[in-house]
Amino acid sequence: MKFNPASKERGFSTKAIHHGYDPQSAHGSLNAPVYMTSTYAFENAAEAEAVFAGESDRYVYGRQHNPTQALLEARIATLEGAEAALVTSSGMAAITSTFWTFLRSGDEIVCHHTIYSTASMFLGELVRFGITVKKVDVGDATELQQAISSKSKFVYLESPVNPTGELIDIAKVASVAHAAGLKVIVDSTFASPALQTPLKLGADMVIHSLTKYINGHGDLLGGCVIGDAATMAEIRAIGLRYMSGGVISPMSCFLILRGLKTLKVRMRQHGENALKVAQMLATHPAVKSVCYPFLPQSPQYELAQRQMSAGTGIISFELKSGFEGARRMMNRLELIACALSLGDTESLITHPAALIEARKKIKPDTHLAKGVSREMIRLSVGLEDVQDLIADLEQALQGEQ
Ligand SMILES: *Cc1c(COP(=O)(O)O)cnc(C)c1O
Repeated sequence: MKFNPASKERGFSTKAIHHGYDPQSAHGSLNAPVYMTSTYAFENAAEAEAVFAGESDRYVYGRQHNPTQALLEARIATLEGAEAALVTSSGMAAITSTFWTFLRSGDEIVCHHTIYSTASMFLGELVRFGITVKKVDVGDATELQQAISSKSKFVYLESPVNPTGELIDIAKVASVAHAAGLKVIVDSTFASPALQTPLKLGADMVIHSLTKYINGHGDLLGGCVIGDAATMAEIRAIGLRYMSGGVISPMSCFLILRGLKTLKVRMRQHGENALKVAQMLATHPAVKSVCYPFLPQSPQYELAQRQMSAGTGIISFELKSGFEGARRMMNRLELIACALSLGDTESLITHPAALIEARKKIKPDTHLAKGVSREMIRLSVGLEDVQDLIADLEQALQGEQ
């Protein structure tokens, strides 16, 4: 093998394209083979017994591992600067597999009050299993300290936060949490490893929804958890294999490996486009506020520069014409799609409060996360030509001035 990843410190994209695979190991095939199999044949009875006796770690069954998945795990781990990674069928499967591995009845989690809505619901459901979730502003050291008790196991947060795009000072959270003996889990989906590596800032584990930027093309679901090798082995053995069963398909791994190759160039363009869109929104007379931490006038600009290498593609903003104005504006868009996901090549827009109000009709206790206003709109800026995105937003905003 000519490319030995251990021999030299290679750059991000070089590793994203080459790490962990030698074409000569597979007939010179430039792309790694996809192992479409659910189980693996043993050579003989003794080999099967050796596996079950813990004397061999060869492939056994698809609910634990697959060679295509293993390559993706190795690549993601190296890009995050971690020992190991575990890839799952969705971001939610990564979150549930992690918590189900380590939590027991009586434990507590301290979680930031604004997080991805489905993750928030999962944490809410944990109450049924005797686990308490305390939602506070983890960015406020005093609030965080007060929420921690002898029963607390983890601090859980996203940065940037979904859906607002605000940042949380990861190093600051880690120092408070570690002083109290807690582990910190950071969902870094909005940044991807191209823009931010939370482990280097003190986090103990990182979560990604691979569905978003890392795959980047809106054609599959995937998730991962990243950290030290022993912890990842435990999550694989317990949370994934015995509890969630949230295994990803080898074909999805192949597509994510393909997406990963262009992650850095895509993130650079998402960020460049988003900054231009945010600048337009910030000076537009119909716009009340814009949250994009890489805008120089943002109150989080200093933290953004310290914590991330560049801006992501997510902007949140509010219109002066409020909730109804947001609905009207979105209905006028011609190019930007009204859709839930984010991080795709296509620009996507969503109005969380409108969906929550609709949801209330069938689930009356549904409510907006703290820090999310009724008028807030989340825009995931895609890779279209930025002048076309700006023109689409300008024509849609025209009626709201
Ligand atoms: C989408 C998302 C998730 C959940 O990921 P899925 O792949 O949809 O299960 C978790 N965290 C964040 C920040 C997300 O945006």
